[in-house]
Amino acid sequence: MASREGSLEAPKRHPLDWKNANFYDSEKLQQEMERVFNVCHGCRRCVNLCTAFPRLFDLIDEGSTGEIDGVDKHRYQEVVDHCYLCDMCFMTKCPYVPPHEWNIDFPHLMLRAKAVKYQQSGAGFRDKLLSNTDLLGKINANPVVAPIVNTLNNAPLARKVLDSTLGIHADRKLPEYTAHQFRSHAQPDANYTVKDGNKTPGKVAIYATCYVNYNEPGIGHDLLQILAHNEISTCLVEQEACCGMPKLELGDLPAVEALKNRNIPHLLKFAQQGYAIISAIPSCVLMYKQELPLLFPEDTAVQTVAAAMFDPFEYLLLRHQDKLLKTDFKQPLNNVSYHIPCHQRVQNIGKKTRDVLQLIPGTTITTVERCSGHDGTWGVKSEYFADSMKIGRPVFKQMATPKPDYISSDCAIAARHIEQGMCENGGNKTAQKLHPLSLLRMAYGYDDNQQAIPGLQVLSAQTHASEEKT
Ligand code: SF4
Ligand code: SF4
Repeated sequence: MASREGSLEAPKRHPLDWKNANFYDSEKLQQEMERVFNVCHGCRRCVNLCTAFPRLFDLIDEGSTGEIDGVDKHRYQEVVDHCYLCDMCFMTKCPYVPPHEWNIDFPHLMLRAKAVKYQQSGAGFRDKLLSNTDLLGKINANPVVAPIVNTLNNAPLARKVLDSTLGIHADRKLPEYTAHQFRSHAQPDANYTVKDGNKTPGKVAIYATCYVNYNEPGIGHDLLQILAHNEISTCLVEQEACCGMPKLELGDLPAVEALKNRNIPHLLKFAQQGYAIISAIPSCVLMYKQELPLLFPEDTAVQTVAAAMFDPFEYLLLRHQDKLLKTDFKQPLNNVSYHIPCHQRVQNIGKKTRDVLQLIPGTTITTVERCSGHDGTWGVKSEYFADSMKIGRPVFKQMATPKPDYISSDCAIAARHIEQGMCENGGNKTAQKLHPLSLLRMAYGYDDNQQAIPGLQVLSAQTHASEEKT
């Protein structure tokens, strides 16, 4: 029987069989890469998604036969190194993903190749350091060290030294460290009467994440303010550690398992008590919702936590559908250029952030649905910085076109990258970068110290325009 082009069924990802000895067998891995690369060679739909596919097709086209058998297998790693696991090829392009019989899961094959490389040769100092977000945060995010590190990160000479010694590109704008960590200053409020809806629990446990805790605590405070405005009881997850995404991207699966073992017991307690668990960083939500369940399919605690985990705007829109979200907005947002990050798109929840922001009168959202090209740590590395800016160029342009008042992305790292790209391309003169949660807090009439701004009136409802760009 001839193979079908594409699949009529919904994509279904297989668990990653990483505890099987075959997973780490180099020869078997090379055979699988050859099989998949050959299918991609005949297809080439993904050529403009990232630089991994162009690298692959260049290797084939410049090889002795013009086919996959003309490529030196040692060079397969070049393709792997250019993949930053955004999952967009799997999600948006590939017609051969499971349940199609060809069973192409390109990102998971790249992840397997990274894991094999990590098992065989480990990682360099820079990659280990960058993926240790908890350690970096603990050292840097305090009133003594943060001002020094932030000053050095903005000093051209220091950045040149960092570039030549460590391989962190001198031109990459790095996130600042906070002097006041979110978890030590957050004021959750568990005193509201819990009102469960049909689709949403009325109490929320916040998984802060390394980024919010150590770099942008304001996002976490804004989330708490929005939940308090809607009279939703909140608390923080105790003793949280990194979700493990940076280690996953490195292929260090044993470290992912160790972090899973630290976090899941605390999260499970909240899931079992009927809390929604919310995290403001899409990659961390994705880790709990999809990656850990695929890595540990037999672990019922992981599956229970996955079912309780929400993206913040997924939760808020479901709360709206439960008729339990306040829409007493007091400030319009005017023109917002909004970028949906890949790790939120992969969650398959739809455009929930856009849908919530569109509830605000006097607000026009231009939605940009394309990879920005940064990833967590990939676009920071000297050897990939130029590629990351190149991949992001269409996004920088689309975000600048409507002359926005605000530029925003659920991924704070992507937002900084987009802001940098827009500035360098001369496309952003005045727009302010704000996280969607900060925009919503502002629309509810609170300033960035979470104080109600006096004298604001509730806006009357009106229709909204919205544009899509992909
Ligand atoms: S997962 Fe993303 S970076 Fe990796 S090959 Fe697919 S589209 Fe490219
Ligand atoms: S991942 Fe799928 S869609 Fe992309 S080039 Fe390969 S076969 Fe084609």
